[in-house]
Amino acid sequence: MGYITEQCKQRVIDAADVHGVISDFIQLHKKGAGFWACCPFHGEKSPSFYVNPARNRFHCFGCGEGGDAVAFLMKHQNMTFQQAIEWLARKYNIEVRYESKEQSQQERDDAKHRESLFFAVAEVQKFFIECFNSDAPDARAWLHRR
Ligand code: ZN
Repeated sequence: MGYITEQCKQRVIDAADVHGVISDFIQLHKKGAGFWACCPFHGEKSPSFYVNPARNRFHCFGCGEGGDAVAFLMKHQNMTFQQAIEWLARKYNIEVRYESKEQSQQERDDAKHRESLFFAVAEVQKFFIECFNSDAPDARAWLHRR
């Protein structure tokens, strides 16, 4: 099993609804535009843990914890980023796609980049070879000055 593809991660993060996820673990009470609860990250008797559905973020005014659904799972359930994505994918019925370990998207991009650099170098070499072949004095003088 390799890394989850960037595209898949993005789909899961876009689908994840912070209120839906958090209410799987703690009881939230609607008040105004948002939801409140006693913070699961620090001990308290009056709720200062706030879920903002409009921004799809949670924030605790008591201890300062906050973030999106992924951040909640990582902190509350001790999940890694990848585990949180897999958990959310199951919840929202999103198929998880994995990169092969040998070549991730990043590595493919790097390879493409190297290829284009190599091509650029080859082009410059060709240019100089052509200059020398045509015995262009300008090119030789220019190289001499360096
Ligand atoms: Zn807190």
